[in-house]
Amino acid sequence: APGLYIVATPIGNLNDITLRAVDVLSRCDGVACEDTRVTGKLMKHLGLSKPLWRYNDHAEERDRARLVDSMATRAVALVSDAGTPLISDPGYRLVNAARDAGVEVQTIPGPCAAIAAITLAGLPSDRFLFAGFLPVKEKARADMLAEFAMVDATLVFYESGPRLTKTLGAIEDRLPGRRVAVAREITKLHEECRLGSAVELIAHYEAKPPKGEIVLLVEPPQETDASAEDVDALLRDALKTEKPSQAAAK
Ligand code: SAM
Repeated sequence: APGLYIVATPIGNLNDITLRAVDVLSRCDGVACEDTRVTGKLMKHLGLSKPLWRYNDHAEERDRARLVDSMATRAVALVSDAGTPLISDPGYRLVNAARDAGVEVQTIPGPCAAIAAITLAGLPSDRFLFAGFLPVKEKARADMLAEFAMVDATLVFYESGPRLTKTLGAIEDRLPGRRVAVAREITKLHEECRLGSAVELIAHYEAKPPKGEIVLLVEPPQETDASAEDVDALLRDALKTEKPSQAAAK
């Protein structure tokens, strides 16, 4: 049926494509993708051949409108280079425009590095905040981490190998003492998930910056990460309970 289909694709292991994704890719009229070479390889692996159209959210309004208009009569699949479209990838503006135009939008869920990392890391998974890529500029990055310091959830970031140790340094500055997980190359040959303090992880990765794609996770604040008022209250309570025992000791 005509419309827009948001299709998740593998984040490494090509066998992670879903049956429904293959079905939609084999039946659509064309595939909007970030990079026709990357998507061309996936299509070839699946034994499929479809028109591939380059799309990203920076496309001219005109081009987006044309693509959306075509969805009245064509089934258009949107994929990104890897994983779930719209998650730190293009698509939001296209879905927004398609909905405005009354186009039918369907999602074909599947692999997503952030979700895969949450299941690997061993950090609390009941509540998490996905923040995509941190700003590259030092001050903006530090400010954002400071903003997250009070958030009672596991923090999830996307990162690249060369920037890893710098980002770990910023985490140690702004969120000191928290455990951090580095989930790397998930579903690929050199998959690795390492949990430790930012200091330990810096020591491990400093000598040889890791290659490949990384999800960084930071544990939520501990209940003992109390604010100044809480600390006063805790001290008062502690003194109250200590006095009788001290008296007893004397
Ligand atoms: N839309 C994708 C998704 O659903 O995960 C994410 C796209 S974003 C441009 C690329 C980032 O995702 C990488 O820099 C890395 O942080 C993360 N990533 C993608 N594949 C990964 C993998 N196999 N292992 C670890 N991280 C991965």
